[in-house]
Amino acid sequence: MERFIIAHMYPDLLDLYGDRGNLICLKKRLHDYGFNCEIRSIRLHEKIDFNTIDMIFMGGGSDREQGLVYHDLLTKAERFKEEIENGLPVLCVCGAYQLLGKYYQAYDGSIMEGLGIFGFSTQGKKERLIGNILIESETHGKKNSVVGFENHGGRTWLEDHQLKPFGKVIKGFGNNGQDGSEGLWYKNLIGTYLHGPLLPKNPHIADYFIEAMTARKGLTLNKKLNDEIEWFAHEQVIKKLQKSR
Ligand code: GLN
Repeated sequence: MERFIIAHMYPDLLDLYGDRGNLICLKKRLHDYGFNCEIRSIRLHEKIDFNTIDMIFMGGGSDREQGLVYHDLLTKAERFKEEIENGLPVLCVCGAYQLLGKYYQAYDGSIMEGLGIFGFSTQGKKERLIGNILIESETHGKKNSVVGFENHGGRTWLEDHQLKPFGKVIKGFGNNGQDGSEGLWYKNLIGTYLHGPLLPKNPHIADYFIEAMTARKGLTLNKKLNDEIEWFAHEQVIKKLQKSR
């Protein structure tokens, strides 16, 4: 049975609002498609074997935790960037997403460097952007809704105008609450503010990663899963949003 390895980076430091559920979802779906899946935890100062992994997942964290992982991540940044260019599937949520940019300026004015892989930066404000969110994304070549929960003080601005957001905000705040963009989508990497967790109630996005992982091994998915419950959960978030605003 074909086996996939997903690296879970800093599981003890970066994990907010159910982020770990993304991995539970990927593992379960891979299994249902007939594959094995190993979740490999990579903690501070541990090596990551980029030759064997099929995907990287990093969750959200507070400013403090972001600071703790930054120096360790920096030692892995060059190879990480190369692998992103080679199409490695990567999901980075909130604090992890912010770390991919140039810097994060906290609301007290202090600057926390980012890996600088992408041309964007984040400005922290005291007033946080919190709530359920609905966006529209085009990961499968047509517009699809994506739902989640966001809670961030940072406002991210995609200064490099070549960068493509993950989606367009329909309800909620997204990158900065102003320009209607949410997250970042580059090759097989998605950076996003959506917690909740993201993948269990957005099965099309879970499959986006699974399709990318399998394609890299020359495999295709030969069945469709029954996602009735997942889409029901998805619809509930949309309904809640329609009622609340
Ligand atoms: N520290 C970041 C912010 O508040 C990230 C928070 C998060 O990961 N939810 O903007």
